[in-house]
Amino acid sequence: MSDAELEALRSQIDDVNFKLLEMLNIRAALVDEIRKIKEARGIEKFDPKREAEMLNALVRANHGPLPHHVIKQIFRMIFRSSLYFMEQQAKDARLITRHGAERTVIDIDGTRIGNGAVQMMAGPCCIESHEQLDTIAKALSALGVKILRGGAFKPRTSPYAFQGLGVPGLKILRDITRAYGMLGITEVMDARQLDAVVEHADILQIGTRNMSNFDLLKAVGGAGKPVMLKRGFMSTLEEFELAAEYIMVEGNHQVILCERGIRTFEKATRNTLDISAVPILKRETHLPIVVDISHSTGRKDIALPIAAAAIAAGADAIMVEVHAHPELARSDADQQLTIPEFTSLLRGLNLKPAVP
Ligand code: PEP
Ligand code: MN
Repeated sequence: MSDAELEALRSQIDDVNFKLLEMLNIRAALVDEIRKIKEARGIEKFDPKREAEMLNALVRANHGPLPHHVIKQIFRMIFRSSLYFMEQQAKDARLITRHGAERTVIDIDGTRIGNGAVQMMAGPCCIESHEQLDTIAKALSALGVKILRGGAFKPRTSPYAFQGLGVPGLKILRDITRAYGMLGITEVMDARQLDAVVEHADILQIGTRNMSNFDLLKAVGGAGKPVMLKRGFMSTLEEFELAAEYIMVEGNHQVILCERGIRTFEKATRNTLDISAVPILKRETHLPIVVDISHSTGRKDIALPIAAAAIAAGADAIMVEVHAHPELARSDADQQLTIPEFTSLLRGLNLKPAVP
């Protein structure tokens, strides 16, 4: 065979490819047309019976040289491509989905999360006493921290471990945040605690273990206060996003997403911080993103590079545990920064106090 003959055959293949491309798009346009009609009439869009019939008819009409199983494979792929519009449309319609440059900025009494400045959410793992929280809040507010964290209801692995002060802890948080002009963020573990948490806190936290507690998500969706949703430690980003959707569907659009590490085989850190989650969530959603550098790593010697990485990846806020005497803390003693350690973290990050 001459080179010219080979070239001629190749150019025929090219023609066929372009024809196939055209036919595939004609087919896709028809599929979309049908989808719109079905939608208008409220008919179920997915029709597996019709697909099976079409596949059988195609196999019967096939006279080779491609064998039946290859034809089936190709057409299954083509049929699956019909789902593209449906999936895309469903994703676009989600409340969390970002459209263009849209960004949600949470503004609580002038303190903003998601406006481009990095906020710090700092404070102890759990509220232990008025004095304990007062000492920490005083130091943090002097350093320009606006958002004070501290658990009153603590999700503990062991039922014998300190479970938090409960409602008295919430009152301490409220008193101290008001005294220092700060905002309080604390976890709500159960819908039965919701009214009390709403009364005393400015931001409601949903912990990693409750990310898939859909009734709780619905409940905070109706709570009328900003919610920080932590990623489940075994959850994919898709599951995380849909959990946030649960809150938003109920009418609460003040949602903040928090990456706090996922479980992997790695033991050098308590969890594995999924840093890629930050730019992905920022690309796919319009919600502010927080990175919890304490629960993700479980250690404080790498606090600075981890916080710097989170900010470089686009985090809107950093959550970090700070305690005046971590060695005496009733939970997470190893990972809580002392006040001087927190001060040098701020200095290392070159963070000016966040613009209110
Ligand atoms: C917390 O922030 O207090 C906490 C318990 O974190 P997580 O839910 O991420 O474990
Ligand atoms: Mn903790």
